Amino acid sequence: MLMYTPKNNVARRFPLLVLLSLLLSVAGEAGTLQAAAYREGRRPFTLDIPKNAGDGEAFAVRFGAEGVKALDLDLDGKTLHIGAPSPASGFFEALLPVPLDTKKKRLRLTLTVQWNGGEKEVLTRVVPVKKRAYPVQKLTVDGKFVSPPPEVAEKIRRDRAEMRAAVTTISPAQYWRLPLARPVPGEVTSLFGSRRVFNGVPKNPHKGVDFDAVAGEPVAAVDAGEVVLVSEHYYGGNTVVVDHGLGVLSAYLHLSGFNVRKGQRVARGDIVGFAGDTGRVTGPHLHLSFYVLGESVNAEPCLETGRR
Ligand SMILES: [Zn+2]
Repeated sequence: MLMYTPKNNVARRFPLLVLLSLLLSVAGEAGTLQAAAYREGRRPFTLDIPKNAGDGEAFAVRFGAEGVKALDLDLDGKTLHIGAPSPASGFFEALLPVPLDTKKKRLRLTLTVQWNGGEKEVLTRVVPVKKRAYPVQKLTVDGKFVSPPPEVAEKIRRDRAEMRAAVTTISPAQYWRLPLARPVPGEVTSLFGSRRVFNGVPKNPHKGVDFDAVAGEPVAAVDAGEVVLVSEHYYGGNTVVVDHGLGVLSAYLHLSGFNVRKGQRVARGDIVGFAGDTGRVTGPHLHLSFYVLGESVNAEPCLETGRR
């Protein structure tokens, strides 16, 4: 069983692959060399997955080998097809989600490797779930956002359906790479997963990260991708969603204005809009939501730690 924390192993493992392929091409006899690599079937590979994964977080999987055509992943029924390695790393890379408050103690990850030539190899791993402790946060907002007037129920329903359709996009090319850029330079003011109590009424946990930002401040895309939603929502206010590929999307809420159109391609750091206080807010800030295979997860562990 090969389990790594992904952070520090990529740099070390990849040179090994290059060295192996060089040796293989020189030796022409794979038998003895394969013993030096990790293998479950006939071929050597490297596989990086974390020792455990927190609920409400995404974890990275990296698979590397020579002669891979495609990789299919299944994490407890959530599936992802990867047709090409990351141009940046040369690895087949995925981000996979652990739902906030999942009751599961461990997740079953199945990787199906399609080798060039048609053979398939199935690898299974167990990823233990580590329960995170999320804080309680009490807030006071305009009463209409705690008990919305009946006439906006249909608007809220449409907003949710539109958001759901956008954030469940799984497009085949990978535009993201970790760590992601920070959308604004400000500090994080409200953590993902906070148990929120609005005007004394317990509501759903905070499914995003709030950043300190002044009204009108530029908001940058955390990575390259395609804008799949530009819309005004009752709760989220002016909202932009960017698809970074392979089921990874970011959403920017409460904007005072937009700087992109739906369908537009953006580069990492491009300005998608301007911070504001539209929707259900206590004041101007940026709310960043992060979705992986349709699941809302904490963006913070995936972001650069330094300020832009
Ligand atoms: Zn927020």
